[in-house]
Amino acid sequence: MTANVNASTPDLLSTVIDAIVPADDYPSATGAGGLDFLQRIRDRERPEWSRRINAAVARIDAAAWQVGGNGFTGLDPAGQQAALAAVGDDPEVDWFARLVNYGYYGDGPRPDAWQMIDWHPEPEGGWPPALPQLPFDRAGLIKPAELRTRYDAIVVGSGAGGGTVAQVLAESGRTVLIIESGSGPAASVLDHDHLHNPRLDTGLGTLTGPTANNANTVGGGTRVYGAQAWRFTPQDLRMASTYGVPDGSSLADWPISYSDLEPYYSEAEWRFGVSGQADGDPWSGARSRDYPMPAVVSGSGRRQRLAAGAAELGWGTVPPPLLINSTDYAGRSGCIHCAMCVGFACPIEAKSGSHNTSIPAALATGNGFLIDSTTVERLITDSSGRVTGVAVVGEQGGTIWRQQIAAGEVIVSAGAVATARLLLSSTSDREPNGIGNNQDQIGRHLQGHLYAGALGLFEGEQFGLDGPGPSIATCDFRHGNDGRVGGGMLANEFVPIPASTFDYLVSSGVFPPYGAAAKDGMRHWTRRMERVVGPIQELTTDDARVRLDPSVRDRYGNPVAALSGSVHPEDVRTRDFMTARAREWLEASGATAVYSAEPGGPGPSGPSAGQHQAGTCRMGTDPRSSATDPYGKVWGHDNLWVADGSLHVTNGGVNPVLTILANSLRVADHLVNAGG
Ligand SMILES: Cc1cc2nc3c(=O)[nH]c(=O)nc-3n(C[C@H](O)[C@H](O)[C@H](O)COP(=O)(O)OP(=O)(O)OC[C@H]3O[C@@H](n4cnc5c(N)ncnc54)[C@H](O)[C@@H]3O)c2cc1C
Repeated sequence: MTANVNASTPDLLSTVIDAIVPADDYPSATGAGGLDFLQRIRDRERPEWSRRINAAVARIDAAAWQVGGNGFTGLDPAGQQAALAAVGDDPEVDWFARLVNYGYYGDGPRPDAWQMIDWHPEPEGGWPPALPQLPFDRAGLIKPAELRTRYDAIVVGSGAGGGTVAQVLAESGRTVLIIESGSGPAASVLDHDHLHNPRLDTGLGTLTGPTANNANTVGGGTRVYGAQAWRFTPQDLRMASTYGVPDGSSLADWPISYSDLEPYYSEAEWRFGVSGQADGDPWSGARSRDYPMPAVVSGSGRRQRLAAGAAELGWGTVPPPLLINSTDYAGRSGCIHCAMCVGFACPIEAKSGSHNTSIPAALATGNGFLIDSTTVERLITDSSGRVTGVAVVGEQGGTIWRQQIAAGEVIVSAGAVATARLLLSSTSDREPNGIGNNQDQIGRHLQGHLYAGALGLFEGEQFGLDGPGPSIATCDFRHGNDGRVGGGMLANEFVPIPASTFDYLVSSGVFPPYGAAAKDGMRHWTRRMERVVGPIQELTTDDARVRLDPSVRDRYGNPVAALSGSVHPEDVRTRDFMTARAREWLEASGATAVYSAEPGGPGPSGPSAGQHQAGTCRMGTDPRSSATDPYGKVWGHDNLWVADGSLHVTNGGVNPVLTILANSLRVADHLVNAGG
């Protein structure tokens, strides 16, 4: 017998979702608004999912007919659970069950679900009485009609690299226009939406829009990032010399050494505000200065457990450095340890980003101007090939407007994917394949980070859920791993929101995504689980690259970026090696069960790119194997620079943003003081 009903039958849909999240002392899925949630998804967010939802429910109903009875609605609760289990391996059923749970734990404030698992967004003691506003008054934020015809410098993108360069150039007395394609919403817009958090893959997208999985907003990735602020080690900049060049890789050394970068690391730590502890990383290079603030202390219970485990293994540990104030610093308050950090804007601006540091500083000079919701679609050149300005496009009141703006210098800081896309889109008779691309180097060597990791269950524990979360790391395996190229850092995870906790536990197979087991599992394990994760060194390849997609255009009619190639097999080996270390650490720390938990899955078939995207305009001394000179100046041009993650020749076995900030300070310093 086959099913003859589908999810458009309300009784079937509500019966199915109430079997996925059944009632007990706390509401079922429908009792918590699950039908409205799904309706909203169908009507507004993902109309194309309507058929998918219907199909998943129909499969569950079909399974019910196999189990016996008159379809799903005719089964008793035990039969319904048996029917769900019968199709539990079906990816579409799994997807649907997770979606229902994401709604249960994450669709707006969920007082019942959150109380059930003893989770609350606010810190112990509650929110402070008044939350600060963005520390710039938008005075320097201009509208299209206010654009001048010419600026001394134009900076494309307002993220880590762009904000940094804009500040230095504006302070040098240049008039600087920062052009940002995203908008600049208040923190209150970006500080609470669990379903659209970039760290939870609901498929519903993020509030800050996609830029190949980074943030498309004033501040770029720094608006919502996790703010881990690691320095690369001396060896990270000398990967080819240290390890040789494995077959199939285009691994190269940076054209600069750690000692060239060190003063800028120090400046970045003080300028933007890093909390950290100077010792504890055996691979770190020499420092000229301590951190400006002591490390942020969070992760109560977890930190002590992992410290004990590391001690038993003889491993060193260090608190992860964070671009988060541990004390009041630079006019912003210290972290109050709320339970929502990575992926959200910080409600008290304790997290440092270009939106609350470099950009307001650039605007405060009186020379700096920021226009948001405006996209640079092309760089303009004159007949000699020299860059003379940019062509921008935006939309106002439903009307698309376009304008050209002249500039003496253009600095592209659009993030590794968008920077390559913009250069490739800027063609001329002299450079028909894109500006600076006569040697076919723009867009190649795309990197990011494969992640290693494991999840541990700690029966008998009651961990705190205080943010930011990463409170202990081991750096022992950043290098020196026999038979491996590079390595990585491992740290405990950012404090997870409930829907992420659900995702982590289900993905590890701790419980299925439905039934009483899922609810009980969430109650039991939310405060008894810990993840240890970390990025690994990636080897670059020529083939991992950004190109223009000939067939897909954005809403302005410009070709979108297409990513191709894949990670190197050595990366997967290193990832597996580091996952084994993560498991070992959790076991030694007393975990009663340990699961491999590699964020991003078992090994991407494509390039990793993502939030740590880098490398597409790598620096070098030879135009045949690099896109820019050692100062980020695009080969063949004397007034065109790149200053963002694109310049990274290699991306380290740690999160990249401090290196982007430091290297951008270095590029800007050279531009201002050595005349480029
Ligand atoms: C959720 C999340 C967590 C993260 N956590 C960490 C972490 O803990 N530690 C860490 O080191 N890194 C982290 N990152 C990554 C970090 O944010 C990035 O490495 C960093 O922001 C990259 O800096 P960038 O200057 O290269 O580009 P971005 O910061 O991405 O800035 C590029 C900007 O350019 C704009 N833009 C793009 N194209 C155009 C155009 N054509 N015209 C105008 N504007 C354009 C974009 O909208 C964007 O605002 C995280 C990122 C995310 C999203």
